[in-house]
Amino acid sequence: MQEPTDAAQRRAIRPVICYPNDTLPRPDLTLYRAARAASQKTGEVLVPPRDAKCFRVPAGHFFRISSVEGPQVGDLNLWNAHDLSERFYSGKSRALHGTHLGVGERMWSSFPTLRPMATIIEDTLGWYGIDDFGGSVHDVIGTRCDPYTGNLLSGTQYHHCCHSNLTRALADETGMILTEAEPNVHDVLNVFMCTGFTRDTGQYFMKASPVRPSDYLEFFAEIDLLGALSACPGGDCSSEHSSDTAACYPLLVEVFAPPEGALADWESPSVNGYDRSHGR
Ligand SMILES: [Zn+2]
Repeated sequence: MQEPTDAAQRRAIRPVICYPNDTLPRPDLTLYRAARAASQKTGEVLVPPRDAKCFRVPAGHFFRISSVEGPQVGDLNLWNAHDLSERFYSGKSRALHGTHLGVGERMWSSFPTLRPMATIIEDTLGWYGIDDFGGSVHDVIGTRCDPYTGNLLSGTQYHHCCHSNLTRALADETGMILTEAEPNVHDVLNVFMCTGFTRDTGQYFMKASPVRPSDYLEFFAEIDLLGALSACPGGDCSSEHSSDTAACYPLLVEVFAPPEGALADWESPSVNGYDRSHGR
């Protein structure tokens, strides 16, 4: 195809950030960390390999996802514990913060609430940064491994993809049947997963996660949360997912409660202020 004569000039235009985020409400990390330091553990859930488990975290409490036994990535879903229609919005979190989330960044909820559900307060993989391939950890660019894409690409019937794991876990937690639970499962935060886009073809890539046992990612719950975490059948995602061939390990979720008064005048964020009249 013939390029226009000014092709080079058009390509040379500098990009602008879609959503400059300097007006986003800032989390008070100093306050959160001080409250976390004084917190007591209230419970834990061990997520078995190639399976998922639910957990609950009250607003103002903390949860930590840890690598135990071996390198393993996790697919995280979050819902408002009182209304499952308010759920993590991976795409908007990506638009606001970038392709991968880190300390001080938020997991935002779906429309019409669009508010912080959880804030990342500690990340022992924060040192990783962005590698020479453009890869980084904890992405909001992937969706979750699922049996439909596997069937589309290779005709398989595999039942332990994160999508199915999360569906079973939510059904078990809520008493819903699988077909009721499934539509509530949504695009995830890919905890510990190392991913990016290839520069030459723009394709989604993964590589062996740098996570090691004792690494963790820690969150402050901004609202009452129901969470579900799947220990991905991809293990460290160094080669493949959607099969039983990769070495897989459990993931540990721990919940912590701060002492009375530790959060001073912190308040759970209210729902988004748009009036929802949509021009009518
Ligand atoms: Zn997965």
